[in-house]
Amino acid sequence: MPYLANENRYEKMQYNYTGNSGLKLPAVSLGLWHNFGGVDTLENARKMLRKAFDLGINHFDLANNYGPPAGSAEETMGILMEKDFRPYRDQLIISSKAGYYMWPGPYENWGSRKYLISSLDKSLQRMNIDYVDIFYHHRPDPDTPLAETIGALKQIQDQGKALYVGISNYNSQQTKKAVEVAEKMGVNLLLNQYNYSIFERWSEKENLLETLEEAGMGAIIYSPLAQGLLTDKYLDGIPADSRAAKESGYLKKDDITKKKLEKIKELNQIAADRKQSLSQMALAWVLDQGATSVLVGASKVEQIIENVGSLNNIEFTNDELAAIEAITAK
Ligand code: NDP
Repeated sequence: MPYLANENRYEKMQYNYTGNSGLKLPAVSLGLWHNFGGVDTLENARKMLRKAFDLGINHFDLANNYGPPAGSAEETMGILMEKDFRPYRDQLIISSKAGYYMWPGPYENWGSRKYLISSLDKSLQRMNIDYVDIFYHHRPDPDTPLAETIGALKQIQDQGKALYVGISNYNSQQTKKAVEVAEKMGVNLLLNQYNYSIFERWSEKENLLETLEEAGMGAIIYSPLAQGLLTDKYLDGIPADSRAAKESGYLKKDDITKKKLEKIKELNQIAADRKQSLSQMALAWVLDQGATSVLVGASKVEQIIENVGSLNNIEFTNDELAAIEAITAK
């Protein structure tokens, strides 16, 4: 059956302007880091992307190395472009990145012009598209001059291979330096993509959100559920189909400590009092801090439906915020 997207898909989703740009991103975006690779089922990946788009999630986030094996999540996207999404290309925001190890050799890692440009060309081939909407440098490179990395992003943008460019995992100081270099070159950095959640607070210590606001940039937050910890799924043990149980997953069983579980239980109660699930509260909390978009992962269609439901209650009382702080500070 050919895919026909839900006609009402734009009605419930919230779309936020990204920094000072004219680009709106959905408040909830979907990432293809886990569960869309060669080791996963194409039919499940297809169901999840269709449901996401039907719910107004028009932003799919990828990177050259997502899989496993590396590159295979982009191949999945490419197959599904052909099967389902080609008619909707103009309505989609597809992003990719380069900056981590891809293959052996001197040009498949970090931030050289050589790597970024050849990597994006391969990503476009795998995804079966002519351009990405956003291309990121995936992590700061301590050795390559910033002017070379930003210059490569400019070249990519000037060639029309990416409509917007951004950075990922740059801390506050690195962001300021990148913006300074970019401004001299006439490049607007659209976004910083980094991790932030009720459990992961490094960016608060260096006021990264404020830095981004001053620079006119947006903030798209990855792992807002701390890879699934900020849900109720681990309260009664480690389910066999969870990320922590899978060999290819980045969440390790050891990350689920007794102390964490106690905090999760208490947070779960606050969420219940707010008449939402813990995952919904965790996403609402990140949005409430000022993020442009929360970038979630999913292994099942039901999780995507639940996560979009976070938008039904994104306001917090001061008491709720204080209670969350008290739990995380323990
Ligand atoms: P999350 O914190 O949203 O974790 C997603 C995982 O949580 C899912 O795979 C699922 O795990 C579980 N989950 C999600 N929703 C629910 C729910 N409602 N109930 C129960 N469990 C749920 O984000 P990710 O860590 O996956 O990161 C999201 C995206 O961010 C990535 O796909 C990628 O695009 C991007 N990213 C970027 C990075 C960068 O360096 N720029 C680094 C990491 C991620 P399970 O499999 O157990 O069901």
